[in-house]
Amino acid sequence: DFAKSKSLAQQRQYLPIFTVRDDLLQVVRENQVVVVVGETGSGKTTQLTQYLHEDGYTTTGIVGCTQPRRVAAMSVAKRVSEEMETELGDKVGYAIRFEDMTSSNTIIKYMTDGVLLRETLKDADLDKYRVIVMDEAHERSLNTDVLFGILKKVVARRRDFKLIVTSATLNADKFSKFFGGVPVFHIPGRTFPVNIMFSKTPCEDYVEAAVKQAMTIHITSGPGDILIFMTGQEEIEATCYALAERMEQLISSSTKTVPKLSILPIYSQLPADLQAKIFQKAEEGTRKCIVATNIAETSLTVDGIFYVIDTGYGKMKVYNPRMGMDVLQVFPVSRAAADQRAGRAGRTGPGTCYRLFTESAYQNEMLPNPVPEIQRTNLGNVVLLLKSLKVENLLDFDFMDPPPQENILNSMYQLWVLGALNNVGALTVIGWKMVEFPLDPTLAKMLLMGEQLECLDEVLTIVSMLSVPSVFFRPKDRAEESDAAREKFFVPESDHLTLLNVYLQWKSNQYRGDWCNDHFLHVKGLRKAREVRSQLLDILKTLKIPLTSCHMEWDVVRKAICSAYFHNAARLKGVGEYVNCRNGMPCHLHPSSALYGLGYTPDYVVYHELVLTTKEYMQCVTAVDPQWLAELGPMFFSVKETDTSLLDHKKRQKEDKTAMEEEME
Ligand code: ADP
Ligand code: MG
Repeated sequence: DFAKSKSLAQQRQYLPIFTVRDDLLQVVRENQVVVVVGETGSGKTTQLTQYLHEDGYTTTGIVGCTQPRRVAAMSVAKRVSEEMETELGDKVGYAIRFEDMTSSNTIIKYMTDGVLLRETLKDADLDKYRVIVMDEAHERSLNTDVLFGILKKVVARRRDFKLIVTSATLNADKFSKFFGGVPVFHIPGRTFPVNIMFSKTPCEDYVEAAVKQAMTIHITSGPGDILIFMTGQEEIEATCYALAERMEQLISSSTKTVPKLSILPIYSQLPADLQAKIFQKAEEGTRKCIVATNIAETSLTVDGIFYVIDTGYGKMKVYNPRMGMDVLQVFPVSRAAADQRAGRAGRTGPGTCYRLFTESAYQNEMLPNPVPEIQRTNLGNVVLLLKSLKVENLLDFDFMDPPPQENILNSMYQLWVLGALNNVGALTVIGWKMVEFPLDPTLAKMLLMGEQLECLDEVLTIVSMLSVPSVFFRPKDRAEESDAAREKFFVPESDHLTLLNVYLQWKSNQYRGDWCNDHFLHVKGLRKAREVRSQLLDILKTLKIPLTSCHMEWDVVRKAICSAYFHNAARLKGVGEYVNCRNGMPCHLHPSSALYGLGYTPDYVVYHELVLTTKEYMQCVTAVDPQWLAELGPMFFSVKETDTSLLDHKKRQKEDKTAMEEEME
């Protein structure tokens, strides 16, 4: 109601940060670095930048604000452009990887921390920025942590530069100390009590438990929206589906009218127009039920939530030393995160949080604080970036919490394997080129190998397709139909080539949207891939790398694919079962892979990533020739002379094929 009856200007004045606006600006005027602490929803993200603008800082440069999450950068920029009554992309804009919504007019720029980090490569002093607000610093994302070290130097070099670090209620003193004891400014809170209900017993199936709880609230409790925390897209979709189903059953079996429930998912890969829905007020008499990842913990503030249902789990990227790679894994969240989640119910009035875990789990099993990303993930990109910034010895870099040495060494090893670092740990020519691309080292390597093997056109498409969410659309109620549609695109022995095939067919159908719908493909995903492709093409042009093509000679392309994934090469062990060549880790073919229904399984494959669900599944797989691994790869591939069954197999296959073709003629 508030959002409807009050103008945006009035809403701004109602925020807690408004009461301290002048004091805050005074502290900023008097100090080069300030840490600002406030509850979620107090107005830090949307107001600080505007206050700085109103106080004149934008006359001599841009006010930049970094976000660990893309969704937050986009949604907040949109909100602020509305509050300032300008078009998004004009005075207020945002930049995320592969998407720049700013112009020469832009004075307030929201961006992911990754974008700002890449900007430091081109402009070490960040001269175009007058102020940087490092928002959500408590999240301790990998890029934010690296930025801490880099911005500290900018602060020392540029007297005219200001830095504001904002944080939810944790870690503020640590941040202050890092910058030499700078002031910490507290925004007074305005929160309501939240009643916390723990589960009596550990819960077996939290999707089911959450759905049940939400339905109970909806039927028996007073007004107020519901927010459910899940771990990721699949679970969120499953939850939304189950909720909708339960509602339908209820409506058809009940004699009374059932109040409406508006079920709204939110996760980072959700298209922006659907994301925006969570902020819209539901119709009169309708309750909103938002099903979110931990994005709704602090990054996005949704008003009107009275009930929170917390599974107690979240997805985290962790480096698994045994596998030698990052895996997205489901973990219990920390106590601090659980408290943040509960707090979402107390923004508009007194609320309730239903925890689907026991009090004992909260007290004894959960960590007090989350582990910073820098201490748990692969540092490949960070190492490349810092090396290119001439930080020779990474252990000397000013990290707030240094990453474990083992992580640094592992990441350096992987870069060496890819040919980005030489034997003494310095960037090679390939390494220098890799830094130019806003891509993971793996995909950058694939591109550069495409250059070398003269199949860049093809590889560029594959890399672009791998940089967007899966384009395959698989509605639950039409699973068979969509699987059949997908199979039509299969290129035997390669999911990478299948992606290329999809793109090429879309192209030969004039990039049409209706064609995508007919073939169970997400048109938005494909359009995004096309955009990414054109941006990467621009970078290739500036590097004067010509767009060569091998005219779809599959083996040449597969060789380029192979060169990117030495660390993800696997050898056949049993039916559908592989082991990683380097460390013997088991990994499995996923039923959705083009290799699954071949009728045989290739002896050697490489894969894009490993996904842990019920098993370790390889995601996006291509069969490779073991010779290539030996030829292109480092020493750990000692493929025996005799071990060329894949080659034999392919010869056989070719013979079969020619025989068949002859017969057909
Ligand atoms: P903080 O950063 O301190 O958590 P924000 O500045 O994000 O606070 O939020 C302040 C207020 O602006 C909240 O009441 C929130 O609901 C509102 N708001 C933020 N983003 C949007 C949006 N995209 N649409 C509508 N309201 C929004
Ligand atoms: Mg915020």
